[in-house]
Amino acid sequence: MFDTSNRPFINGNPEFWTTGIKIEPDGRKRYKCSYICECGHRGKRYIPLGTDHVTCHSCEYHNHVEPAGPIDLYGLPKRDRHGNFYTAISRRW
Ligand SMILES: [Zn+2]
Repeated sequence: MFDTSNRPFINGNPEFWTTGIKIEPDGRKRYKCSYICECGHRGKRYIPLGTDHVTCHSCEYHNHVEPAGPIDLYGLPKRDRHGNFYTAISRRW
C-alpha cells in the first residue's frame, strides 16, 4: 500500500484529499478514480495513468475506467466536480 506518511498535509488533511493525487516514495503518481460497481458498491481507487480497469473492493468485478473530463496536454483528464480524474463503470470482459 501507499506510504503517505512523509507527504505534506493541507489544512490538516492528507495532501491527496485536496489534490486527488497520491505520490509514492519513488515519485510515481496515482490519480483518483471513483467507481460504481454492478454489485452496487461505490468506492475509490488511486490509479496510474493508462490504467484500463479497477477492481471492486467488494466483489472484485472489473470496472472499465474512463477519463472524468477532457484530456490535457500532459495526458491528464480534467477533474470532475468531485475531484476525480477518472470514473469507472461496470462492463464485463
Ligand atoms: Zn462489486
